[in-house]
Amino acid sequence: KLNKRLSISGNNDELSKLAATFNDMLDRLEDYFKRQNAFISNVSHELRTPLSILKGYIELIDRWGKDNKDVLEESIGALKKEEQEMEILIERLLMLARGDNKTLNINKKLFNVYELIAEIVRDAKVIFNEKNIEIFCDKNLEVNADRNLIKELLRIILDNALKYTDVDGYIKISVEEVDKNVAIIIKDNGIGIPQEDIPYIFDRFYRVDKARNKETGGMGLGLSIAKLIVELHGGSIEVRSKLNEGSEFKITIPKV
Ligand code: ADP
Repeated sequence: KLNKRLSISGNNDELSKLAATFNDMLDRLEDYFKRQNAFISNVSHELRTPLSILKGYIELIDRWGKDNKDVLEESIGALKKEEQEMEILIERLLMLARGDNKTLNINKKLFNVYELIAEIVRDAKVIFNEKNIEIFCDKNLEVNADRNLIKELLRIILDNALKYTDVDGYIKISVEEVDKNVAIIIKDNGIGIPQEDIPYIFDRFYRVDKARNKETGGMGLGLSIAKLIVELHGGSIEVRSKLNEGSEFKITIPKV
């Protein structure tokens, strides 16, 4: 623990300033260590869960799988699913680390916004086919941005909209051109976010009330990645939400 702070007696201005700068650096270093520590323990925790599930299924296969085809098939299915979860977690951690090191490069190209949204919606419908998703977007609208990153960003927001609504979920995706920007608004009629949690939902590993999220899975990294991608593009992300009524995420990015 860095608990030593400089204190200067007397009234030497230069020295006092120097001490203040030094103490400020210590504060920031301490804060950094604290966050780094919390980050590592969160990562370890998030990896331990899928790992123990993998272990469980491996044991199951070992004991019963050789003689029982059903057990074998079910276990292999579950192993694949967990493996994918871990892959997503690692991809996301790498992306955040690259963002921190300023080594995450963006590769801008002109692409059609409607086509990208339609693609994501098609993928989402495979899993959430009972929910209603509508798109309002000019079919000719193009932006100059990193298509893969914007796809990841919209997928995160849409997945959340789907995860945090009931079976009668209705999701409206609308795209507007405002000056030199394009705004993509994803609105759901889901469980909403309590006002007091809103300032923190973009923080790494932050999840609103773990109990309420138990069945939905998730690691609390999605929105921190979303924010990183938006910032890399020089855009912004805003949220409006009302408990038990729904949430609205508005992403603004420059068209060129
Ligand atoms: P998670 O993996 O938990 O979904 P995120 O970073 O994507 O992590 O989101 C952080 C938290 O914000 C979620 O745990 C959830 O409580 C809340 N949240 C995000 N999107 C929505 C939404 N559309 N409706 C309600 N709550 C949401």
